[in-house]
Amino acid sequence: MQNDIKIYNSLSGQKEKFEPINPGHIGMYVCGPTVYSNVHLGNCRTFMSFDMIFRYFKHLGFKVRYVRNITDAGHLENDAEEGEDKIAKKARIEQIEPMEVVQRYTVDFHEILQKFNFLPPSIEPTATGHIIEQIEIIKDIVEKGFAYESNGSIYFDVAKFNENNHYGKLSGRKVEDMIANTRELAAQDDKRNPQDFALWKKAEPQHIMRWPSPWSDGFPGWHLECTAMSTKYLGEQFDIHGGGMDLKFPHHECEIAQAEACNGQSPVNYWMHANMLTLNGKKMSKSTDNNIFPNEIFSGENNKLSKAFSPTVVRFFMMQAHYRSILDFSNDALLASEKGFNKLMEAIGQLDQLQLEKNTIGIDIQKLKTACYEAMNDDFNTPILIANLFEGVKFVNLIKDGKATISNQDFEELKSIFQIFVFDVLGLEKTSTGSNGEADTLGGVVDLLIGIRNEARANKDFATSDKIRDELATLGIQLKDSKDGTNYSLK
Ligand code: AMP
Ligand code: ZN
Repeated sequence: MQNDIKIYNSLSGQKEKFEPINPGHIGMYVCGPTVYSNVHLGNCRTFMSFDMIFRYFKHLGFKVRYVRNITDAGHLENDAEEGEDKIAKKARIEQIEPMEVVQRYTVDFHEILQKFNFLPPSIEPTATGHIIEQIEIIKDIVEKGFAYESNGSIYFDVAKFNENNHYGKLSGRKVEDMIANTRELAAQDDKRNPQDFALWKKAEPQHIMRWPSPWSDGFPGWHLECTAMSTKYLGEQFDIHGGGMDLKFPHHECEIAQAEACNGQSPVNYWMHANMLTLNGKKMSKSTDNNIFPNEIFSGENNKLSKAFSPTVVRFFMMQAHYRSILDFSNDALLASEKGFNKLMEAIGQLDQLQLEKNTIGIDIQKLKTACYEAMNDDFNTPILIANLFEGVKFVNLIKDGKATISNQDFEELKSIFQIFVFDVLGLEKTSTGSNGEADTLGGVVDLLIGIRNEARANKDFATSDKIRDELATLGIQLKDSKDGTNYSLK
């Protein structure tokens, strides 16, 4: 199976046979979050896509070194060029240390990812922990003539680089068009050309996050941290680099240029980009209000939602789309995913009660298993994988209804298909979901009480029904009655 994987490479715009540099080993780098605010569900989608890919590679037996950084410095408001550092800005507004901002949102990021059942990456380096490495890379690029100093800042010389290299090969942009499209020349006095980007910025007196360097007290450009950390932990050339589509330009284009300027070779063999999660047809983003936060979904506390949904249902919703397709978030879509997820879990829950005999017609477990691997090997096609898993659900239901039988051996295979693909690869979790999707015993208990309350109301025993509602409320469980029945949310 390891030999058959095809990956869509953003650099060539094609699916390519995956050939790791060292057979059996994979180096994978994914740009991590900028920790100046809570992660929204869109951010989670990109990281979840790579968690699924990491899981699949591990399942196939690859030794994967998965590096996902934390951006805790140097990410400016305006694509790494102008404006205030986003973390410093938050620190100024809240009157706390920048590192308090970083800590708060790194903890939030980890908590959310844990709820979604992410595997931890092999290394999670921080930008501020690698300032020395970044300075060394800048020195190297300056020495090789691809960067210049201007008033204590260092800029990458795109025109010089482009003489013998191709700046724009990932994003498909042309340097000439970039120049033509740049209006704000006045704001970029320090630069020779508007398309040049900062490797090091001299800090203004009020800029809090600053480090000494040969050029000035300042801070590194955003693109540089990923070049420094990926090179340090994965080498000058490694297998896979990932991130969201919106990072192709300028971030990844600049990473390629920096690494090629230093090492004279392309740093990454396969560039992978996950597509955006949208809300109302528009990209979810931190800078606008067009977003939703995972905890709002888990508690149901958002007026876009009719109820709460468990993390694993949200994960299933994400996995139902291919990672390169745009996915639109909505309450209805989550409701539909929850139904599908419950069906899948019901079938898995019934596995152990099946009657085992010899196979009767129509059940070909080996074919099913092959189809699951083929889907994943075809650029990690999780929607096709899930469609195949529902073929498995059909088998279970046929056998349960006495319309087919399965041999002991095939039964074990079927069980292992569900284990591998549902739990190990997709990262879903077995749950008995309550009416609001709460993924544990609590869900069942609250549903039981909702049932008793409904009976009491039907019998006009309002004392009992009110007592159940009020006592649940004092425990922080809020019942919500609607025309579709009763749901609950957790305070
Ligand atoms: P940031 O913290 O803004 O640097 O973003 C972290 C990751 O989330 C990056 O890989 C982005 O490409 C990705 N991302 C941001 N918005 C979305 C979205 N709406 N859908 C999917 N991924 C996103
Ligand atoms: Zn990056």
